[in-house]
Amino acid sequence: MNLLQVGILLLVALSYTSSKYIDKDNEWEYLVFTQTWSAASCMEFNHEHRSCTLEKDLNKWGIHGIWPNNEDKTGPFFCDHSWKFNESAIADIESELDKRWPNIINDTPHTNFWKHEWEKHGTCAASLETLNSEHKYFSKGIELNKMWDLAKVLEGAGIVPSKETPYDMRNIKKTIEAKSQSASNVGCIKVDGVQMLVQVEICMNKQFETIDCDDSHANKHGKLLWFPNIKVYPCGYDEPTYYVLI
Ligand code: AMP
Repeated sequence: MNLLQVGILLLVALSYTSSKYIDKDNEWEYLVFTQTWSAASCMEFNHEHRSCTLEKDLNKWGIHGIWPNNEDKTGPFFCDHSWKFNESAIADIESELDKRWPNIINDTPHTNFWKHEWEKHGTCAASLETLNSEHKYFSKGIELNKMWDLAKVLEGAGIVPSKETPYDMRNIKKTIEAKSQSASNVGCIKVDGVQMLVQVEICMNKQFETIDCDDSHANKHGKLLWFPNIKVYPCGYDEPTYYVLI
């Protein structure tokens, strides 16, 4: 074997192992359907000096995303850098997305949030036949947001948005879990020292059946599984929790 042949052989072997490595890295086990209480989220954005206007139409649960995940590590993320967000693929459902999956950050294109979610999470979810296009991914979000109507679920237990009345976190979590028939992650933020409900994660298998995902919010490496970049944390049980009303 001459030097050229050895080189070619090495290159082939290298590309084989690296493509295998990337494939393996993009594997995932379950889906996290995450919804956000937009009013609280907006307060947090303002706190971070990202402009969001507190208007009454933010008193709603918006979709954050459908996130592929693994039991022992977060992600994967950004599974196909060549599959860029294409607005025209979802033209027929955009007005519905504006209501249910709103970009609440001012002065940014309304498609920004969708682009981020598609490229970071959607391109990974797309390995599942039922989510293998932008249209399927965003339509599934709409479907799940209708199915897991958290405002209605909480209202059924007398938990309604309020400026004055704080709630017991155990009751909020119990109410959501009674509906989902699974353990769910419930996230809060602190605004001026006050705990506020902001995020609910319902976990599902690849058939969209709910599964438990309350794993103390830590992977095997002890890191938070969700939202490491924003100050959302697993709600504390021992302090009053506001389900804030604008
Ligand atoms: P992710 O990377 O999927 O965890 O999403 C986090 C990013 O989503 C943050 O950087 C926020 O900027 C953005 N984000 C979250 N909620 C919203 C929202 N309702 N509107 C616009 N951007 C949002």
